[in-house]
Amino acid sequence: MVRRQAMPLRQAEASVIHSGGIHASTKKTLVVHTSLLFDSGAKEFVKNVSVEADTSTGLITRVWTRSEDELVQLDSTATENKDKDKQVIDLRGYTVMPGFVDSHSHVFLHSYRVTPSIYQERDESLVERIARATNHCRTALLSGYTTYRDLGSEGIRDVDIGLRDAVNRGIIPGPRLFVVSEALASSGSYEVRHESHLNGTAVPRISDPCDGPDGVRAAVRRRIGAGADLIKFYADYRRRARRFPAQAWPGSLPVRFAPPSLLDRSPSSPLFNQEEMNAIVDEARRAKAPVAAHAQDAEAVIMAAKAGVTSIEHGFARSDEALKVMKEKGTIYVPTLSIIDQEKETVGQEFWDDAVEQVRKAWEMGIPLAVGADTGAVAHGDNIRETEILHKDVGIPLADVLGALTLGGWHACGGDLCGRRFGTLKVGWAADLVALQGDPRDDLQALRKATFVIKDGELLVRDGRLITDERPRID
Ligand SMILES: [Zn+2]
Repeated sequence: MVRRQAMPLRQAEASVIHSGGIHASTKKTLVVHTSLLFDSGAKEFVKNVSVEADTSTGLITRVWTRSEDELVQLDSTATENKDKDKQVIDLRGYTVMPGFVDSHSHVFLHSYRVTPSIYQERDESLVERIARATNHCRTALLSGYTTYRDLGSEGIRDVDIGLRDAVNRGIIPGPRLFVVSEALASSGSYEVRHESHLNGTAVPRISDPCDGPDGVRAAVRRRIGAGADLIKFYADYRRRARRFPAQAWPGSLPVRFAPPSLLDRSPSSPLFNQEEMNAIVDEARRAKAPVAAHAQDAEAVIMAAKAGVTSIEHGFARSDEALKVMKEKGTIYVPTLSIIDQEKETVGQEFWDDAVEQVRKAWEMGIPLAVGADTGAVAHGDNIRETEILHKDVGIPLADVLGALTLGGWHACGGDLCGRRFGTLKVGWAADLVALQGDPRDDLQALRKATFVIKDGELLVRDGRLITDERPRID
């Protein structure tokens, strides 16, 4: 039986209620003039390009290199705009790029340097976490990010879906969010750990636990039904943390004779068998959803890549075999080196060196990369650190890193599966642009100087400030 959708509002009512959101533009066309533009498809900088977009669709309608005549004309008339239906933004003098994509973020987390995840998940109120996420959405835009591929709300179920919709409805400013609702993990694997279970202590769940081929298929169906854009599962995790528990409260006694490092106390191990991973990917494919797999060690990377996931997240351990399988399967790699850069004291220099080497080899082999900082675990607003690490520490040429930061992010979001094209400036693709002060080829710091940000053909950041603050808000 075909169920009817909820009764649609009559047209008249709908038009009264729908005020257009904070982003509503009164102009029909947006024209942006650039003098230096990064073409993420060709991975090269091009000069004197202009871009036109239809503000009702947010899509680019024309991209052209200005002729000599146009250049002269523009110089004399740049500040004039007689066409009331057209908004002209002159970004000559800036370096303009497609909007940045953070391919591994957690908009509901804030830096572990301030508070470890357990306190955020267990002790912070839902209201505080949503308020912080709202701030993080603003910070993302101010940092030049027009898309977040957000890989788990960590303890607040599928609240990320509501946040995504709030941005899409124009209630709050923010990047385009692709969300997973809850990540999948097997029983007992990815949980808030605590030692006291019998006194009623309540902790939120941080994954949707599922087991067996049928069980994981059901979990994928739950996530799709909840509204997830993509599926995330934990292919491995350090799930034996309770075997040699860390000191978790003031005055708790340390466990004696435990292995010295936290990684040895609780090494990563696969959470699913091959059949289960295959079933997750197969079921997601049926729903036309991409799949991201958290995998730290080679064993899980290989299993997840063989299952056909869209991307591997982290994959820190050095392994030529893991890279070989990823290359064969066309798996996208999102290394998130920022989080181990932040945790270097815990993980150690050797772990860091191995991870850097693994990413370098991946790039040399032509494995597609996307740039995600595990933002949230590291501070929002410092997302670009991942780009800096990939260029400076790993040694990947800047143009390749910037390609991974933009168009690479679209591929990680599932490419055409994600329902919108973004990450490069071509006709039919979203008009997402960021204007940087300076040229990142001369000074990498330019990437931290997002001055204008346009998302879906709407100017959201002007002179480093959110212009939505100047407009009436939705209450
Ligand atoms: Zn993460």
